Order: sequence, then structure tokens, then C-alpha cells
Amino acid sequence: MAQVEKRPSSVPTPFEWEYAPAPEARDIVRLEERYGLFIGGELVDPLSGRWLATESPATEEPLAEIAVAGPEDVDLAVATARAAFENGWPEISPSERAKYLYRIARILQERAREFAVLESLDSGKPIRESRDVDVPLAAAHFFYYAGWADKLEYAFPNRRARPIGVAGQIIPWNFPLLMLAWKIAPALACGNTIVLKPAHTTPLSALFFCDVLRQADVPPGVVNVVTGDGRTGATLVRHDGVDKIAFTGSTEVGKDIQRAIAGTGKRLTLELGGKAANIVFDDAPLDQAIEGIINGIYFNQGEVCCAGSRLLVQESIYEQLIAKLKNRMSTLRVGDPLDKNTDIGAINSREQLDRISELVESGKEEGAEIFQPPCHLPERGYWFPPTVFTSVAQSYRIAQEEIFGPVLSVLTFRTPEEAIEKANNTAYGLSAGVWTEKGSRILWMVQHLRAGVVWANTFNRFDPSSPFGGYKESGFGREGGRHGLEAYLRFDE
Ligand code: NDP
Repeated sequence: MAQVEKRPSSVPTPFEWEYAPAPEARDIVRLEERYGLFIGGELVDPLSGRWLATESPATEEPLAEIAVAGPEDVDLAVATARAAFENGWPEISPSERAKYLYRIARILQERAREFAVLESLDSGKPIRESRDVDVPLAAAHFFYYAGWADKLEYAFPNRRARPIGVAGQIIPWNFPLLMLAWKIAPALACGNTIVLKPAHTTPLSALFFCDVLRQADVPPGVVNVVTGDGRTGATLVRHDGVDKIAFTGSTEVGKDIQRAIAGTGKRLTLELGGKAANIVFDDAPLDQAIEGIINGIYFNQGEVCCAGSRLLVQESIYEQLIAKLKNRMSTLRVGDPLDKNTDIGAINSREQLDRISELVESGKEEGAEIFQPPCHLPERGYWFPPTVFTSVAQSYRIAQEEIFGPVLSVLTFRTPEEAIEKANNTAYGLSAGVWTEKGSRILWMVQHLRAGVVWANTFNRFDPSSPFGGYKESGFGREGGRHGLEAYLRFDE
């Protein structure tokens, strides 16, 4: 990555002192050379005979080989999940089912460091985030849904709730373990069986999770994991033996899935892209807002569906806010994901880096002004410096398209009405942020923002009890909270 623009003289010099490296030990993770498919409680070689390598995006070193599930493998996994469904999983007592979920949660906590290191190795995210966010939240999801497993009659009073059957679940690479937890925990709590397909660039935490399932004595066949690429996902979606599809990923693939299952009677939830507005009013606590903006767009390298990738600033505080923002950006540390000082890790794959670079080029060509603080990017691996674009028009691609990288586009507004108009001027509707000291203004904004989640004076906060999901091209259905149960239940009224 080429070196980046000089800091303008109006921006104060950041701290010049260096941090000593603080690498997390990698040896807690013991990788096998190869991992098969997890079907019927065992890792088995793929009938397809095909394998692919998963690499560390920070070093481009191969980490392990994973099986590529072909149609015959998906068939076997679905048949195994069906047999587990028909042979008693939904009939065991709900409190027994809850025990499995509690066990999984506790084992994840016990093995938290191992999972955090593994997730950072395979995905490129900073260890601080996998350690403090991904893994604890994944465990929290299992704890939370364990609590619901024997209380479905209270969750849905006067309605007879039953599991749907076999759930096909397809997860992305930005939060591999956490998305697995969002999918598996409610499905199991409701008595379904599962075939899960992780992304091909980040399959390892799902494969290590299979060991957690064994430790927790989850009956064989209740959860199956088929690794592979997009074709494996497409096969799972189209399989006749699947009763429900839950997908998190790109809007393009989401639309393809919707077309593929139309008319089949399969149930569907889609959690797709976003282009969230993070809106800062002139009465906002500025320093706190700066932290929220940084967290909103640079958390997980900006590879977050609900990232605050469009910053809307009230005109009267624009100069001051941008100066503070650039100063704070200059303190961000980009580099080794396993270093505890790292704020921004590696981009997940070469393809994703190319996508980010292409969109950033388009921003420059369309006339936006770019700022990137000086930073040393490692020679190997996939890296992108924290970036902010100012002088952005609403029509620019960087204001419209999901970049899914550490790139922020700044727009301005004068009145709350204008902020709403600009915030809602997007094909997406997943999340938004509002920064102001006035409670009444927050409530007014929340009523007018077309977004599934609105954060007030904070950003990127997640809790298992809080439903998450979008409008428009961000998808439909909710994950998390009591709402998240509905996606895995049918009701005999
Ligand atoms: P995809 O939508 O391709 O990947 C998400 C998951 O779907 C992966 O497991 C993928 O498998 C699988 N998949 C791919 N094609 C199909 C298919 N035809 N049918 C069923 N499953 C399929 O996202 P990309 O990795 O291509 O990322 C592209 C863009 O999508 C990003 O730049 C970002 O904008 C957005 N995105 C949004 C996410 C979100 O959280 N909402 C998450 C990831 C990406 P495999 O990876 O093995 O190909």
C-alpha cells in the first residue's frame, strides 16, 4: 500500500512515542494440517475429494486445509440433520436442551483465549476485539438463549410454538464465531437441527466449535458444519431437505437466495449490508462523539455491516470536529492482529482489499478529498490505512455503496430534517447513530430514521437481548432477543 497524505498543519501532532510490541502468544492454538466436514458428530473427509487452504490475512501464510463440500456432502449433512430432528432432538425436555446451551457457553468461556487467538489468526481482526467483543458476546448469546429454551410458552403466550426442522445457516467472514453464535444458539434453543456453512476465508472457529459441541455432549447430527466456498452455500440453499435458511452476507447473494427459494415454502431471514449514518449535532459532547465515530467506522477494520460509514456533521461544528477526528485517527495503530496494542488489523482477503481500493479510487476520481494519517503498513498481508473522505456529494459511490473497510465519508447538514433526509437517502436500512445532548431530539430522530437499530450517544453496542436486523436492502427478520426466536419457530394457533 502506497504511503499516505501528510497531516495538514492545522492538525496537532499526535504522540510520537512508540509502543513496545505486546504480542499475544499463538501457541495456545494447535492447528491440524487438515479439517474435514463435521457431519454426525465426526470430522469426515469430503466425498467431493476437494480441499482448499485458509490463510492468515496478516501474513498470507496458509494455516490449514479445509474440505470443500460438494452436493453429495451437503446431501449427507442435511440427511444427518434431518435424522437427528426426527429421532428425538425436538422431543427432549426443554430444560435438558437448555443445559446443552449453558454447557456450550461455559466451554466457550473456558476456551476464550484459544478462540480469540484463532479468530484473529484466521480473520485478521485485532486480538483486543476478538478477546473483548467476539468471544464474550458469542458465549453471552448461548447463555441468553439457554434461558429461553424452557420458556417458549412465556415468550409467546397462548401460541403453540414448535421448531421448524432443519435450518441451513450461512455466515460471513467478518465475525465468524459471533455470527455462528447468533445463528446456532436460537435455532438449538427452539429445537431445530442445523447445517452451518462458514465463509471459506474464516472456517477455523466453526471447526474448533465442533470440538466444543463434542465436549458439551450435544447429540451427533444436531449441528453439522460444511465448509467450502459460495457454491457449497448455494447448494445448501437449494437443498429440498432444508426447511429454513438464515443468511448473513452481501445484498447481492441475499437477493440470489431469495430468488432461489421463492415458492418453495422455505423460511428465510436475511441480514445484509448497510451504509449507516452517524449523525452529530452541534450540542453533542464532541470528544465522546469522536470516540463513537472512530469505533463506528474503524472497529473490525470497518468490515461491519452496521458500520457508521457515513458521518453527518452539523455545519456549525464541522471544522472543529474534522480537526479532532484527524488528530484521533493519527493515533490509531495498524498492524499485527495478535499485538494487543493494535487498533486496526488486516483486511480479511485480497478480494476485499481490492474492493476497498477500487471504491477509494472512485472517491478520489469523483472529487472527494482524502485524508489518511501516516502509518507504516506491513509488507506482507492485506492492509488498508484508516481513511476519511471530506467534500463528499451524496451521489458519489463512496456515499452510496457499502465499502466494508476502514473508510469514512463525511457529509454535512443544517437542520434535523435535512439530517433525516440525507440519512435515509440510501438503499440500506440497518443502523444509525445520533449524537446530541437533547433526549427529545433523540426520540424525534429515532422515529424518523429508517434503520433497524439506532444508537444514541454510542455506536456498535451489541447485546444478546436486543434484536438486530434491517429494512430495505439490509434484509429482513431479526436476530437476538425474543424476536430472534421467532425465526426458528412455527406456530400452531
Ligand atoms: P458473500 O455474501 O459472498 O459471503 C457471505 C457468505 O455467503 C459466505 O459464507 C459465502 O461463502 C456465502 N456465499 C457466497 N455465495 C453464495 C451463494 N451464491 N449462495 C449461498 N451462499 C453464498 O460476501 P463476500 O464475501 O463476497 O463479500 C462481499 C461484500 O458483501 C462485502 O464487501 C460487504 O460489502 C458485504 N458483506 C456483508 C456482510 C454482512 O455482515 N452483512 C458480511 C460479508 C460481506 P464463501 O465466503 O465461502 O464464498
